[in-house]
Amino acid sequence: MLRRVAEGVLVHESEFVQSNAVVVQGRSGVLLIDPGVTGSEIDCLADDLQELGQPVVAGFSTHPDWDHLLWHDRLGEVPRYGTARCASTIRDQLSEPGAKARIADHLLETEIAGQVPLDLLGLITGLPAATEQIPWDGPQARIIEHQAHAPGHAALLIEERGVLVAGDMLSDVLVPMLDLADADPIEDYLTALRLLEDVASDVDVVVPGHGSAGGSGQVQARIEQDRAYVLALRNGHVPADPRIGPSAKPGWEWVSDVHEGQLQRLGRC
Ligand SMILES: [Zn+2]
Repeated sequence: MLRRVAEGVLVHESEFVQSNAVVVQGRSGVLLIDPGVTGSEIDCLADDLQELGQPVVAGFSTHPDWDHLLWHDRLGEVPRYGTARCASTIRDQLSEPGAKARIADHLLETEIAGQVPLDLLGLITGLPAATEQIPWDGPQARIIEHQAHAPGHAALLIEERGVLVAGDMLSDVLVPMLDLADADPIEDYLTALRLLEDVASDVDVVVPGHGSAGGSGQVQARIEQDRAYVLALRNGHVPADPRIGPSAKPGWEWVSDVHEGQLQRLGRC
């Protein structure tokens, strides 16, 4: 089911880690950001768009993690964009023998084993590094690229609609998950948060890759919450964060394990 979050912007939420597919209406069809997860959900999304008479005219993946790189025949053969670094990262991964089989294996440990269409995974066209907008016929979608959760991660600002599509940042349920392969994951994450903060005053609705959309007051609050978490990691403090520990939402207790893992990998415990 598509839910409107702003004029001309709709969200389709997956049952799998509350993944959000974002639909932006343009003049002759929609831009589809991070299409979603299971085959039946993508099917449902395709049905909804058909009913609205809105074909998909372009896609965008916010970053090179499998759950943001999916596609389905029914969404059509249209350009699917990502940052140049996103595209090259997934291209390199897929060139390794058995890459998709490893993703399928990983999915066996989840409740959606066998339900995820992997055929068209990661067929992303990289936009040249200095590209500021997604090339499409609709409201301008400004690309805010940074190094934070994954290589070539990008948020999109749909300025006319006051919407920030945040990729896997600014979530109400997931703490910042750092790209631990990055040379300086903490400083890079803080820099990324500053880039998002620079546009926060233009944002009425923030849509994270996973979790609930937030209203205008939420944008700055989530930036501050993420920053406090990252600073606590940096300083080796125990973060007072509602997303981990006993205050985590039911079903999200595993986020505390993610946090523990990050502490260990960063050598701060
Ligand atoms: Zn994700």
